Amino acid sequence: MAANKKLLFLPGDGIGPEVMGQVRKVIDWLDNRRHVSFDLDEDLVGGAAIDTHGTSLTDATLDKAMNVDAVLLGAVGGPKWDNVARDIRPEAGLLTLRKDMDLFANLRPANCLPAMAEASSLKEDLVSGLDILIVRESTGGAYFGQPKMIEDIEGGQRAVDTQVYTTAEIERVCRVAFDLAGKRNGKLHSVEKANVMETGVLWRQVATEIGKEFPEIELEHMYADNCAMQLVRAPKQFDVIVTDNLFGDILSDCAAMLTGSLGMLPSATLSGADQSGRRRAMYEPVHGSAPDIAGEDKANPLATILSFAMMLRYSFGDGDNADLIEGAVKNTLARGIRTGDIMQDGMELVSCSQMGQALTEELDKLAV
Ligand code: NAD
Repeated sequence: MAANKKLLFLPGDGIGPEVMGQVRKVIDWLDNRRHVSFDLDEDLVGGAAIDTHGTSLTDATLDKAMNVDAVLLGAVGGPKWDNVARDIRPEAGLLTLRKDMDLFANLRPANCLPAMAEASSLKEDLVSGLDILIVRESTGGAYFGQPKMIEDIEGGQRAVDTQVYTTAEIERVCRVAFDLAGKRNGKLHSVEKANVMETGVLWRQVATEIGKEFPEIELEHMYADNCAMQLVRAPKQFDVIVTDNLFGDILSDCAAMLTGSLGMLPSATLSGADQSGRRRAMYEPVHGSAPDIAGEDKANPLATILSFAMMLRYSFGDGDNADLIEGAVKNTLARGIRTGDIMQDGMELVSCSQMGQALTEELDKLAV
């Protein structure tokens, strides 16, 4: 059972503080009803940090993040900061956190709860009960490789991004994915484009090698374009998918939309384990700061609450309370409670804070 674990809250911008406020309700509930307590600190990141400190992430905040058991982040960014210098823009703070905490494995589940199957853009029977986990390499590849630049050339400009991976980078993310596949249905798809990219050739070789350490896992290689197609054709064929930063970004958004709404999607990013088995970790909803509805108490807090449940499971080994929270989300939706983004005919439209309240009521029922 988790107790006095160090947790850093970084609400960020836009709807970030609103959805994080609902997680606080869950934390209070755990404290009161389950005697699970956290040593909770809160700090600024993104635009909020730019406004106060002139940078999207101070060294002091980074230091805190490096020394807690887990970080929960809301969202960063918004039109107010669209024109700040590139190196201090809100997203730069997020990228620095991921890079300096060495959070190389981004876990993005795509679960389709039965109550939400109707909201998917695919046919209900294709997605109902869907349960996929995408493991995306998140500190390497095309988003970080050097050179990365735009230069002037005769007659225009030339832009360069570099896709680069080392054996070690591929090994460590594949190990995380094999490990997780072993805790699920034992099936792993390794996704790249070995047909046209050298990084894909190396990725395939390394995944095959690591697979020998996990003989119980069924490993299948798939090209990224085929994977995109299969995700919308027959998504239930997948259990765990491991892929690079760029393909993972795209494929996880694609898988995400199978489940209905951005407001429902949690994520986790983990570092490698140190000698004591501890991993640094950051948990965050997949959605952004939703400036169009910020400050209106309309946001769906479930992605952030489900991110917190992932934290309990992966950082604090508290699967019981994670199950409880996930069960409460399922029951709240089954009761017909909906925020605007997932509203359906005949359902009850609630605000962000009312959704948080409804969830704690369901927690109360489940905990008796
Ligand atoms: P977004 O995810 O913020 O919003 C896209 C659409 O989904 C909007 O219509 C929004 O209202 C809706 N939406 C998103 N989350 C919702 C929620 N929880 N409940 C209800 N509706 C929700 O993406 P965007 O509009 O492309 O970006 C807005 C800002 O967020 C930009 O500044 C962008 O850079 C930033 N962003 C940050 C992150 C992050 O912090 N990890 C991720 C993506 C975008």
